[in-house]
Amino acid sequence: MPRRPSGKAGLMSTIATQIAKVVTRIREAEQAAGRPLGSVGLLAVSKTQPADAIRQAHVAAGLRDFGENYLQEALDKQLQLADLPLSWHFIGPIQSNKTRPIAEHFDWVHSVDRLKIAERLSAQRPAQLPPLNVCLQVNVSLEPSKSGCSLEEAPALARAIAQLPNLRLRGLMAIPAPSDDPQQQRAAFARLRQLQQALSADLALDTLSMGMSQDLEAAIAEGATWVRIGTALFGARTYGASA
Ligand SMILES: *Cc1c(COP(=O)(O)O)cnc(C)c1O
Repeated sequence: MPRRPSGKAGLMSTIATQIAKVVTRIREAEQAAGRPLGSVGLLAVSKTQPADAIRQAHVAAGLRDFGENYLQEALDKQLQLADLPLSWHFIGPIQSNKTRPIAEHFDWVHSVDRLKIAERLSAQRPAQLPPLNVCLQVNVSLEPSKSGCSLEEAPALARAIAQLPNLRLRGLMAIPAPSDDPQQQRAAFARLRQLQQALSADLALDTLSMGMSQDLEAAIAEGATWVRIGTALFGARTYGASA
């Protein structure tokens, strides 16, 4: 590891270098999959990172889309960064008593996994804002998982969510069980893509939110349109300070 320069200029150049590496990985994966360059969006997952790291990622590399998992932490950072034209994505588990601030303060929610949450977000979305972009989170791993609806439940749920007036159902999201095996990674992402293709017979969907630092290549090969990247951009997270 090269020694990091210290101070703000150092933070800036480190983040800029990491972002450039991730963008290169994304472009190479797009090319390898025969997909148009720029067809995959980079969602920077900034949970547990200070507001300053987000500011630098925006200033140094023009990143605009940031994903957060913990509501209070996200609201605090949004206040500190209110001068920047950022788009905020909620990607964490949602408790039903937290839907109002999510409906009021985010542009996207990737982690909708039950109708009650979708109904509350629609009802609580302020009238002066555009519809809230949402993805239905689906469990594509073969084990049961506490987040994400099942593949079997997904079609009826997607159709019900698509009817809600203040939401715009954009597509599907998944967090497969981690695997080092590229074949296994692709198999899980392929299940989400196939579901999306089946639903596209009657719903207008344009988003597959899948792929993280360890498996973005497999996700892009299977059609990801957002990859959600934390560690590869900002370094390892230290938990405990927030949440
Ligand atoms: C933390 C998180 C990510 C980012 O994971 P990395 O492995 O750090 O890239 C992506 N998606 C969700 C839902 C997360 O909670």
